[in-house]
Amino acid sequence: MKNQEDKFKKVISHAKEYGYVFQSSEIYDGLSAVYDYAQNGVELKKNIREYWWKAMVQMHENIVGLDAAIFMHPTTWKASGHVDAFNDPLIDNKDSKKRYRADVLIEDYAEKINLKAQKEIKKAAKRFGESFNKDEFISTNPRVVKYFSKRDEVLSRMGRSLENEDLADIKNLIEELEIACPVSGSRNWTDVKQFNLMFGTKIGASAETAMDLYLRPETAQGIFVNFANVQKTGRMKIPFGIAQTGKAFRNEIVARQFIFRMREFEQMEMQFFVRPGEELKWYEHWKEERLKWHLSLGLGKDNYRFHDHDKLAHYANAAADIEFNFPFGFKELEGIHSRTDFDLKAHEEHSGKKLQFFDHELNKSYVPYVVETSIGLDRMFLAVFATSLQNEVLEDGSERIVLKLPSVLAPTKAAILPLIKKDGLPEIARKIINELKFDFNVSYDEKDAIGRRYRRQDAVGTPFCITVDHDTKNDNTVTIRHRDTMQQERVKISELKNIISNNVSIGNWLQKM
Ligand code: ATP
Repeated sequence: MKNQEDKFKKVISHAKEYGYVFQSSEIYDGLSAVYDYAQNGVELKKNIREYWWKAMVQMHENIVGLDAAIFMHPTTWKASGHVDAFNDPLIDNKDSKKRYRADVLIEDYAEKINLKAQKEIKKAAKRFGESFNKDEFISTNPRVVKYFSKRDEVLSRMGRSLENEDLADIKNLIEELEIACPVSGSRNWTDVKQFNLMFGTKIGASAETAMDLYLRPETAQGIFVNFANVQKTGRMKIPFGIAQTGKAFRNEIVARQFIFRMREFEQMEMQFFVRPGEELKWYEHWKEERLKWHLSLGLGKDNYRFHDHDKLAHYANAAADIEFNFPFGFKELEGIHSRTDFDLKAHEEHSGKKLQFFDHELNKSYVPYVVETSIGLDRMFLAVFATSLQNEVLEDGSERIVLKLPSVLAPTKAAILPLIKKDGLPEIARKIINELKFDFNVSYDEKDAIGRRYRRQDAVGTPFCITVDHDTKNDNTVTIRHRDTMQQERVKISELKNIISNNVSIGNWLQKM
């Protein structure tokens, strides 16, 4: 645990020190759970967004994009159920005065039991070596069986109680499990209350004509209300999808995990419209596709796992999360939800407009079913950034801090470094920059010894350093150094564009899917 906390602290301070993420309005002591992306962060974020967009829109003939406004007619949120049901159960500790999400307290408890079981499994795997049969061990070892059944029992009881809105039982469960406040250590809890997460605001000039609005808590509804417009003007046939990236706002109860849980964040969502009855097939399809997208970035297969929901949202008939191994453990990174025809039907009812599709093959109209993939861009940023940040001990015993970002996502693709600040080397370096800048983000650095400059670029995540030295003047070659291996090669200046392009092009990376 201590180790995890240290690692997470390092992630946060590195993000600040190297110009990735700043606290919002820091000079006024910041605004809780709101962050700004700095000079490097904005590039990384843009590259993740583009990597998602190309994988979803450019790679699929039947998926198109959309950019709906953040403000929407307030009836949207009545129809979607957010006004009545977009609540989180909150609970306060009377001693520390800290506020928690009751479901998260219980989930964390369940995860602790899970970790105990995993520890037993790991120990046994070590003890039995080659002959270890994991499945058999899990189903027969009394301790592991006990841990897993306790975990499942806790989660399913919570799921049931949330579904039935039985908040008293949620409190009972917290008391029975003897869950204590991590800050005060006490079990002196208030009752569990529901809290609506939408931010309200007003539109209009005078008090009399002003209209109450919400800042959208998800981008999905912008897609649903545009379903018929896009379908007709794009002549889309079922199955087809609409993809969108954009800001969403939630007045989160607890916000202590850096950019994991923000009050203003960005989502990348795709709603896929299908024939009723075919939704579960497509749900499985998108679960698989989305995992492939994640794996293509090479952050490590073991860092992902699926988690099927115990409590289904009011609109869903199947839902799973892709969880990622964040510095504070496995948590939701992306949701894949089979949303049925709930949203389109609700908007039909509230607007009085038809939101249907005429299926020529079936010769009938229907309200399509929807499978959604929804990922938080900021969470993806955190997953990529935290996993890439590594402390390496080198052969000579020295250490280096290196940000091994997937090169396709790195803010700057190459740094051009004149070995020394004179003899015409800076001029050659500038010339190289002027050739490369049309295709890539590149930077120039002439300060300090070359070794220190390499370390600086390692820490900021630049995949290539290109060094101009005296030989360059004679033979037009430079040294190119690879961030991850630290290997150096001598190449012609004229080859640089190809080398970098092969390594960082989105096309090449997407082909790994
Ligand atoms: P959680 O259970 O963590 O609150 P959620 O289930 O409410 O998340 P969804 O409504 O499914 O989340 O939203 C889809 C995605 O949007 C999530 O998988 C997550 O990546 C992202 N997301 C949701 N809330 C936030 C937030 N407050 N800050 C950053 N990203 C968020």
